[in-house]
Amino acid sequence: MPHTQTASRLRPFGTSIFAEMSVLATQHNAINLSQGFPDFDGPEFLKAAAQQAIEIGHNQYARTQGVPALNEAIAAWWKRGGGCEVDPHAEITVTSGCTEALAACCLGLLEPGDEVVCFEPFYDAYLADVALAGAVPRAVTLRPNRDRSAFGFDETELRRAFTPRTRAVLLNTPHNPTGKVFTRDELALIADLAIEHGTIVLADEVYERLVFEPARPHISIASLPGMAERTITLSSLGKTFSMTGWKIGWAIAPPAFTAGVRAAHQFLTFASATPLQHAAAVALASEEGEAYVEQLQRDYAKRRRFLADALTELGFGVIEPEGTYFIMADHTAVSERLGLTNGKGEPADDFVMSRWLIEHAGVATIPPSVFYHDKMEGRKYLRFAFCKRAETLRAAVDRMRTAIGSARRVQA
Ligand code: PMP
Ligand code: GLN
Repeated sequence: MPHTQTASRLRPFGTSIFAEMSVLATQHNAINLSQGFPDFDGPEFLKAAAQQAIEIGHNQYARTQGVPALNEAIAAWWKRGGGCEVDPHAEITVTSGCTEALAACCLGLLEPGDEVVCFEPFYDAYLADVALAGAVPRAVTLRPNRDRSAFGFDETELRRAFTPRTRAVLLNTPHNPTGKVFTRDELALIADLAIEHGTIVLADEVYERLVFEPARPHISIASLPGMAERTITLSSLGKTFSMTGWKIGWAIAPPAFTAGVRAAHQFLTFASATPLQHAAAVALASEEGEAYVEQLQRDYAKRRRFLADALTELGFGVIEPEGTYFIMADHTAVSERLGLTNGKGEPADDFVMSRWLIEHAGVATIPPSVFYHDKMEGRKYLRFAFCKRAETLRAAVDRMRTAIGSARRVQA
């Protein structure tokens, strides 16, 4: 028997880094700042809504495009958030998390050989979804701006990524893992290129409500002139309502694109968990839901401040995130001061640094080179998740301070 029976198109992707790091965190009894999930529960009113939906008998297959109440709640949420008026039943498809929406878009809308422009570092599912569809990624690299205030991209590099074979742009704003929130000017440039080249845009906006800078609001590219008719906007309940395990997501698109998304969705999952869809409708449509999100945003803003300041004090080069619940930090100064190398006399890469933190500090992070096409681009960073209780973050910082401090003392 060969070592693996995995289909060749999926073999390059191995095990998701999120699963890998969470297993390591458990093995080392580490505080898990790697996989992005809250270490606290979502709101009580939402749990009660799900329990009630189960109790009153919403337990059989849902309508494939979503239970009507949820499609209607998503349409109203989308309009309130700056999107345009859509037909909830013809232009919205409920999926099993944004993960399924991404796969359904790629499988339902791309032809083999099509090219997809995407920004690296990218969320790990992107390359796999593009590969499953037989399409080809064209990466544009996000790098810190000159003053290191945020990540940005080079216009020429973006223009060069478009070719006659470009079918789609896969855009994620607010962006995991950099925390970048794309500006209106950046979105306008992407929109112009999409229109010029006749491409569609897949806009992954799962962190739409997790933004922290009043000067950098989240803008949906679909709201720009000429873009609603070529954009498929994807989002989900998980981050906004601290229920990542519920896996309720959606895709909003004009009917012609929705047809492609649904063509794949009906055979991927057919429908998502019925009682959770009913509860999701309550989350999106209620005043309680809105109040929860506003409070969560304030809490995350404080945790971002705390962790960014603490990491800076420890010697990490923090590039302040404008959104999401992640911080990308340059570990070079810390790993150099600790004398870490990759075993070949070269500076420590992200895997070496993140392993050191798990083993010596008991803190798990993500080595973000896995999110890059060109791994060299990501090796000097670590990604820290701050979607954790304030005391979890304090404990993680204490552990890192002690471990880094004592390692330096031993060397001195
Ligand atoms: N896109 C991005 C950028 C994400 O960070 C995540 C979170 N895992 C997803 C998509 C998937 O979302 P969901 O959990 O709703 O499937
Ligand atoms: N989105 C989460 C992250 O970036 C993890 C998602 C997953 O585990 N698949 O950490």
